[in-house]
Amino acid sequence: MKLVVATRNQKKLMELQELLADMPVTLLSIAEFPDAPDVEETGSTFAANAELKAVSAAAATGLVALGDDSGLEVDALDGQPGVMSKRFAGPDATDRDKYRLILHLLSEIPDEERTARFRAAVAVALPDGTVTVVEGKCEGVIAREPSGSGGFGYDPVFFIPSLGKTMAELTSDEKHAVSHRGEALRKAASALRSVLSNFPL
Ligand code: IMP
Repeated sequence: MKLVVATRNQKKLMELQELLADMPVTLLSIAEFPDAPDVEETGSTFAANAELKAVSAAAATGLVALGDDSGLEVDALDGQPGVMSKRFAGPDATDRDKYRLILHLLSEIPDEERTARFRAAVAVALPDGTVTVVEGKCEGVIAREPSGSGGFGYDPVFFIPSLGKTMAELTSDEKHAVSHRGEALRKAASALRSVLSNFPL
């Protein structure tokens, strides 16, 4: 059974492959379908963007499709950067530029008000337009300075009090176990199991 993933990001594809390892599916990237349109993330929520990507990929390929969107919400910034997480410090900003901007904006904010969370939404769409969206989140606080070299994005400044480490100090297995994306993908895997049992490919 073929399943198309609405991402050109090889890392995400690999994460998914691991999570769906016990299922009889072959994952294909949307990059393998040159005629599939590029989808702009115009939604105002992670769920809306995940759904846009999954529905477009399912319609373009005639296959069951999976789309995702994720980002960081900082309470002291009224939930920003949110769906703008990727572009928060401008189109050419590096991951370091982005987390340094967060540290700068929070420089006067006391420890107890530095709460934040990562959120992820994953949508599973059928070619007929039926969609299931699931979500995951991971609570933490924004550290005073970056620490760790693992992960990507805002990981070096996202501190998880219960683990006493930033997300960038975790191994990939440890991150997977607690992360927003891990939670959403585990839920998506069970949604997929029921979809696939009703959808002969
Ligand atoms: P997207 O889901 O690829 O659109 O990711 C949106 C942006 O949110 C990324 O470019 C990162 O800046 C941020 N982000 C999402 N997930 C994570 C994560 O697990 N760690 C750190 N940053 C993340």
